[in-house]
Amino acid sequence: MIESVLYSLASIPLFAARPFLAAFLTAVLARWGVDMPFIGDSRVIIALHHSPAWFQSWGCILSLLALAAAEYWATKDPDVRGFMEDLDSWIKSGVSLLVTLALIEKEDAALIQKLQSQGLAVADLWAGVVAVGTWITAWMRRGALALIYEIDDDDDIGLASVIGWTESAFTLIGVLFLIVFPILSLVLAGLTALGLFVAQAWVRRREERRKQPCERCAAPVYPHALRCPLCRHPQAAPRAVGVFGQPRAHACEDRQAQVWQLLARKRCPDCAARLKERAVQQSCKSCGTVSFATRRELEAYADAIDARLPRTLLVCALFSAIPVVGVIPGVIYYRLNLVTAFRGYLPPLTGCLTRFYVRVLHWGLLLFQPIPLVGAVILPLMCWSTHMLYRRALKNEVQTRLAEPAVL
Ligand SMILES: [Zn+2]
Ligand SMILES: [Zn+2]
Repeated sequence: MIESVLYSLASIPLFAARPFLAAFLTAVLARWGVDMPFIGDSRVIIALHHSPAWFQSWGCILSLLALAAAEYWATKDPDVRGFMEDLDSWIKSGVSLLVTLALIEKEDAALIQKLQSQGLAVADLWAGVVAVGTWITAWMRRGALALIYEIDDDDDIGLASVIGWTESAFTLIGVLFLIVFPILSLVLAGLTALGLFVAQAWVRRREERRKQPCERCAAPVYPHALRCPLCRHPQAAPRAVGVFGQPRAHACEDRQAQVWQLLARKRCPDCAARLKERAVQQSCKSCGTVSFATRRELEAYADAIDARLPRTLLVCALFSAIPVVGVIPGVIYYRLNLVTAFRGYLPPLTGCLTRFYVRVLHWGLLLFQPIPLVGAVILPLMCWSTHMLYRRALKNEVQTRLAEPAVL
């Protein structure tokens, strides 16, 4: 009994990171753990083994495996991840609720029967506590990771990938660690929750700290915003936009170019707040400005991004002079410079499809890379083709979505 309680409590951070992977590992250990060397006689394993038969059935284990695989794919793909964000905490707490119920149910049947006469099952209550704990931990995790996704939402520099791998490894090692050192795991789980709390509070405050008072109404305004989100007063000297959408130290030079740069970093062209949806037209959550209100606006934007193409191609050609490893900085460079500007506005399904086309094309192209001379044009070709594929996807999107006369 105590081991099941301990396990469910200490595994909260694991369920908040990778719920289906954690559930799959738990079911596998419940079924086969007792036959495994070293961990077979662990009290936690024996407690897990007492879970109901349905939890240890092939059907349950295989379904969890399929869900864990889907989860891995979903966390890797920025488009799917963005789509799942709203459901995130609910799925995680739901999975932890079911697993906790499975772990406690059978073992504690006698106690439940005793308590049910009082109208309350302690197992249900406990599972509820674990589910709420998972919900809160998942919410804090999202807050802390917001910084990563703000910098690298589309995984352009691979930061999001590294975080994804780390979390999967954390869950895998965490489950094994929990079996061998249950008490220590509980302490570490508490420390993880505390760390997440501090991190998310810091990330949330950081945004507000960055802002400066508006020149007219003193409302907090981003240093690189063209207007105040509240009174719409134009700011005298907005700062330039950095590669990751952050304000830079020097002032911007051209206000029209600033509009395109803010949009290219998925920020509101007026108040510089982040545009979170994956859609061409969306109204800013801070000031209500609609991105790409007209088709002409989007065409002017696409032209402004196109103007970056020659220089980016040239830089890519220079990168391809570095044998083998030159591809990596080259790809990061053209993604940040061109692709992100279009990709962030595609809806999830179109985004996934385009990403798939690009991947297939690039595998083909990279086969030619080892050939001398031909290899030199591969990187610029990758840059050009990616740019064109995403540009076309966005144009198609605009033609279908902005076709209504009301918005033309
Ligand atoms: Zn103002
Ligand atoms: Zn705005």
